[in-house]
Parts: sequence; C-alpha cells; structure tokens
Amino acid sequence: MYTKPLSTQILWLTSLFALLALTGTLLVVARAVTQTDADALERQRMLVGRAIAEEVASLSQDQKSVASWDEAARRVRADDREWLHENIGLWMRDYFQHDRTIILSAKDEILVQARSDRLAGGPAEDMIAAFGPHLAALRSGATTGKQENARRGITLIDGRPAVVSAIQIVPHSARLAIRPGEEGVLLSAVFLDSAFLQRLRSAYALSDARIRLTNTARAWETALPVTGGHGAPVAYLVWDPRLPGEHLLKAILPTALFTGLVVLFVVGLYARHIYRSSAALEASEVHARHLAYHDGLTGLPNRAHLLHRLDRLLPFSGEDRAVLLFVDLDRFKEVNDTYGHQAGDEVIRQFAGRAERNLSGVDMLGRLGGDEFAVLLRGVASEEEVTAFAARILSCGFDPFLVPGGSATIGVSVGYAWLEPELSRSEVLRRADVALYAAKREGRGRFCAFSPETDAAMRTRRQLEDELRLALARGGEGLLVYYQPLLSARDGTFVGVEALVRWQHPRLGFVSPALFVPIAEESGLVSCLDQWVLVQACRDARAWPDLVLAVNVSPRSFERPGLAARIRTTLSAEGIHPRRLEVEVTESLLLAEHSRAQAELQTMRQSGIRIALDDFGTGYSSLSRLRTLKVDKVKIDRSFVMGLGETGGSTAIIDAVIDLGHALGVTVLAEGVETERQREHLRTAGCDELQGFLFSPPVPAEEISAMLEAEWEQGAA
Ligand code: C2E
Ligand code: MG
Ligand code: MG
Repeated sequence: MYTKPLSTQILWLTSLFALLALTGTLLVVARAVTQTDADALERQRMLVGRAIAEEVASLSQDQKSVASWDEAARRVRADDREWLHENIGLWMRDYFQHDRTIILSAKDEILVQARSDRLAGGPAEDMIAAFGPHLAALRSGATTGKQENARRGITLIDGRPAVVSAIQIVPHSARLAIRPGEEGVLLSAVFLDSAFLQRLRSAYALSDARIRLTNTARAWETALPVTGGHGAPVAYLVWDPRLPGEHLLKAILPTALFTGLVVLFVVGLYARHIYRSSAALEASEVHARHLAYHDGLTGLPNRAHLLHRLDRLLPFSGEDRAVLLFVDLDRFKEVNDTYGHQAGDEVIRQFAGRAERNLSGVDMLGRLGGDEFAVLLRGVASEEEVTAFAARILSCGFDPFLVPGGSATIGVSVGYAWLEPELSRSEVLRRADVALYAAKREGRGRFCAFSPETDAAMRTRRQLEDELRLALARGGEGLLVYYQPLLSARDGTFVGVEALVRWQHPRLGFVSPALFVPIAEESGLVSCLDQWVLVQACRDARAWPDLVLAVNVSPRSFERPGLAARIRTTLSAEGIHPRRLEVEVTESLLLAEHSRAQAELQTMRQSGIRIALDDFGTGYSSLSRLRTLKVDKVKIDRSFVMGLGETGGSTAIIDAVIDLGHALGVTVLAEGVETERQREHLRTAGCDELQGFLFSPPVPAEEISAMLEAEWEQGAA
C-alpha cells in the first residue's frame, strides 16, 4: 500500500490546521457581528415602537388637560365658538403643537377648527370621516352609559399617517349638569410625518427616519409597521439602521486579518521548516534504503533485495512459474591474484554492465557479493526457455574483460532452481546453490539445473566434510600417509618421496584425495590436514635419512599467516632438517605478486626448504612466467607426459620446460611416468627426476622402507 511521504502529510496537516483556525476565527467574528446587529435592530425597533405608543398616549393626555373643564362644557353647550377657538383650538395648536384640532357640538357640528399647516389639507369633514369609528364608539359609549369618554389610535388623514384622539368635553364639577348625548367632542391629530419624525430623529439618532405608506423597504433599510385600529398596518416607519456590527467589523477586521496573516505566515514558516527537515530525513531514508538494498560496486540489487523479492514471488510461483539462477564467475580469484583487486572490481562492474544489457526483461538481476550474481526470471513456460536464458548469461562472460594491466579471460557458471510455492526461501536458495556447485564441479563454463541427484551428491560432500572434520579432530583417525618414490632420471636411484594423504573411510572404504582434498579446501579444513600430513611424514621420514621429503601444501593453507614459521617449528619438533623438505605448491599461489604467500615462500626458502611447482602447465601462468617464479623444482604435469610421442605439442612443451628449467637452474621432474617409452624420452630430453606408476604407486611407509632396503642390498651386491 502506498503511503504519502511524511513531509507531504505534515504539509497537509499544517495547511488544514491553519485553514481551520482561520475559518474558525472568521466564523466567530461573523457571529459576533450578526448577533450585535440583531440585538441593535431589535432595540431600535422596540424604541421606535415605544415612541409611537408614547405619542399616542401624550396626545390624549394633552386633550385631557382641557376636555374635563366646566367652562369648556358650558361654552360648547352655548355654542361659543370664539371662546372655544381662543381657549382650546389655539391652545392645542400652539402649546401642544397638535396638527389638527376640531371641536364638535353634541350634534356633530363643527364648532372649532384649528390646524398647524395653514395651507395643506382637505376640509374638516375629511378628518371627521377619518375619526369615524372612534367617534361612533364615543357616541354609542355615551348613549349606552359606558364610562369611556376618549378614543385614540392611528389612521390616515389626507393620505398621511396621524395619531388621532377623540375625547368628550365634560364638566369637571357636578355643578354643571350635562346630560348624556349633550357633550361636545374634541378631536386632535398629530401627523407622524412632521414634528413626530423630528423628535424621533433627534431623540434616537435616526436621522433618516421616514414614513412610507407601503412596505417597500430595501435590503439595507428596516421598516416598522405602524398599525391602526384593527391591527392592520397604516404606514411604515422606515430607517437605515446604522448597525454597530459594521463598525465592529470595521474595527476588528483589519486587526483580525492582520493577526490571521501573521499566524498564517508563522505557520507557513514552521511548516516549511518541518517540510524541509522531514524531506531531508526522507531523502536520507530513501538513500539508506537504497544502500541497504543495493550493491555499492555495481548499483545492482543486493542479497537482501533478492530475499525480499523471493518472499514476494514464492507464494505465486504455482501459476506464475519462476526460476532463480545463481551466476558465478570462473577463475575470478585468479584475475584478482594476477592483476590485483582493482582489476577484479573492474571485471565485476563490466560483467554487471553486460548482464544488464543482455538480460533485459528479467524480474531481478542482483549481485550477491564477491563474484556471485543472481537472476530471477518470471513467467517461464519451459525448461528450454531457462536453458536458452542460461546460455545468454554464459555469453556475457565470453569476451575478455579489459582491466588495468591487461585483459582477463574468465568464464561463467550458472546453476538454477525452480520456485515452488511449497518451498521455503532458504530451500530455493540452497537448490540454486547446489546447482551452481554442480556446474562448477562439472568443469565450469556451463549451466546446471537443480536435481535430486546433484542434491544427493552435495549432501554426500557435506557429510564427507563433517566426517573429515571429525577425523582430524580425533588426531587423524582413518587418515594415512602414502609415499610415492621420486627417482633420478639418470640412474634410476631413489632421491625422495612425495607424501600423499589417504583416507580409509569407515563406510566408503578408500576415498581418493582427489575427492576429499577439494572438500577440505572449500571447508577450510585443508590447513589442518596439511599440518597433520607434515607431522606424520616427518615421523615416517626419520627412517629414510637420505631421502628428500616432498609434501603438498594447498594454497588455502597460506591464507592463515605464519605458515613458514609453523612448518619450521614442526620440522625442528620432529627432528627433520629443513633441507630435506620440499614444499609442493600449485601455480595459482605464485601468481599474485607481492602477496603474503610470496613472502611465506621466501621465508621457507631462506630457511633451506625447497619449493616445487606442482602440476606445471595446467594453471594460469605461461611458460615465460617461469623466469620470474622463485622455485627450486618444476613438476611437469602428468597430462603432458601422457601425450609424449603422441601429440607434438606435449613433446615440445616438455622440451621447452626442461631447457628453460636448466637455464634457470631449476630441477625438472616429470609426473605420471607410466611407460618405458616415456621414461626414455624424458631421460634423453634431460629431465632430472621422474615419478610415476612405472616405478611405484604411492605406498605405505613400510613399503618405502622395504624398497630402500632392497635398493641397498642391490647396491651392496
Ligand atoms: P599431486 O600432488 O600431483 O600428486 C600426484 C598424484 O598423481 C597422486 O594422486 C598420485 O597417485 C598420482 N600419480 C602418480 N603417478 C601416477 C601415474 O603414473 N599415473 C596416474 N594416473 N597417476 C599418478 P593422489 O594421491 O590421488 O593425489 C591427488 C592430488 O591430491 C595430489 O596431486 C595433490 O594435489 C592432492 N594431495 C594429495 N595429498 C595431499 C596432501 O597431503 N595435501 C594436499 N594439500 N594435497 C594433497
Ligand atoms: Mg604433489
Ligand atoms: Mg602433481
């Protein structure tokens, strides 16, 4: 499953947090503003409503100050219009500033009419008509004897909303008796759109308060219905509510915005910092992961990567058939020894490059370490497909590799095993390893599939290894040393013996050193084995004081430092003079210049031990290198002796080695002499010493003693 990188996650989280914080702040501000506005509007409406109610109340209060008056009642009855005009009409207009004042007689005749707006307005009848319902209620109240002598409300007069009030003019004292129905009526009106508006504007700071007859308030205006007698709106008081929210907003918004921006900036800086450091961390993690899963030299996936990949593929290998191929470079160690480690690295790099180019389409090509590579192949249909692919791998090693100091020719061995769902990872690895091992053992430069047979052979090897280890741990139990005579080619006299190890195996019988010495070499047991043989041979050789004692020392014995010193110690402990010892080594050991082995050999030679070059001609070096090798003896390999007289090449090589050896002052010995013809040829060619079945196979020490005795007897006779 893909997960976003940490840095991206942090960036997202921080952005989300900043956004939430900002939105939250804005919401709080908006809520505060709208709530403040709503409260203020409600308060304004309440105040305006109360102002209208007060206007209505004060109008009737004004009327009451004159309506309950003996003199006024009498003047109404007396129809004294002038008095009424002077004392009530004008009083109401000028003192109380009523816009309209009318006094009606009991018979509803107009006795007085006073108005503040001299010009405007229709006839008094219109106003009386506007008072209609109130007047009727007053009159009927009076006739029915109900104690209501005043009526008030809001209505339209001349198309203008006005507060109106009607009150009966009645005597204050009981001295003047007025019968019901004889009362005059005082009608007063104050227009809401005149003085009232002025008062409203100044008292409540509603400078733009205005009256409209219809509710046509715009979005920014507020309208309060002014209701008449039946609760129906008569007009609307409209004003622009200067709401404090706007001020609040204006006051806090810049600060809030500024603070928000500062917070955003700081959060941004912080996020950037975290982003950068986590991105750097991720980059180094990616780098570390790459290092953990890739090989430093070639950049190819490494062993850990292969294991991971195998785990992934194994469960599906039933349907999607896959093969694991192990690839090993042949004679790589020799390249390393001959040209140095840098050249070795170069070969590895070049091989990796060739493989990458030639093996496209593979599931994985990796380097396991050293000169070992691995290839995973998926979607394989047949064995033929695998072998064709393996052949392609082999071809990657055909051309020589150009390295500093020359060109190296190596080969490639391949072993492969099929992936199967029921197999464990380590079992697949083991199988590929077994197959590779088989390819190597079958002579390298080839591929080999895992099979139960190779597996069995491998197991036998493992078992032999264990048993050999045990044998050595038990002081060489079952191991023997045989000796093969080395003879003078000139007169056939006994000059020395070569110690050759044997193993009398409890179960398998006689096991050839050709089989178990390589096992000992691979498992690291050989150094112990060589030491054991040396001790044994020294003890036996004490019986043959005139003979040279040749022992084989594996190149791997040189890997443990101090070999020369160990041999010296053994020789002195066993009482053998160093001059009697000849150490047989193979060519590969001498190839690496300035190597530790060279130094050890040098030390051995200085102490009198002689060095013999065994199996000469089979190794990597050329004839010309013989000049530079500091050895005392050359043992021409059996394969050349076998070809004597049959293949011209062998004869020529043997002659050349003998000539060169003599020119360099090196003793030349021929191995594997089996026929008189060979012996004769070698003798005439000038070979110094001979060894082979013609004279004797390797035999137990007693037989050597017996042979020596026979020789003496012969010599004595
Ligand atoms: P090598 O050192 O070249 O020994 C000579 C081998 O050739 C011996 O085989 C010997 O039996 C065989 N041989 C001698 N003459 C003839 C002949 O005329 N015809 C044929 N066909 N073979 C002949 P062996 O004893 O089986 O040893 C094989 C190899 O095992 C030796 O080759 C040597 O490399 C190694 N080896 C034996 N003993 C030791 C040991 O103690 N230490 C080490 N490191 N290697 C040993
Ligand atoms: Mg030998
Ligand atoms: Mg040999």
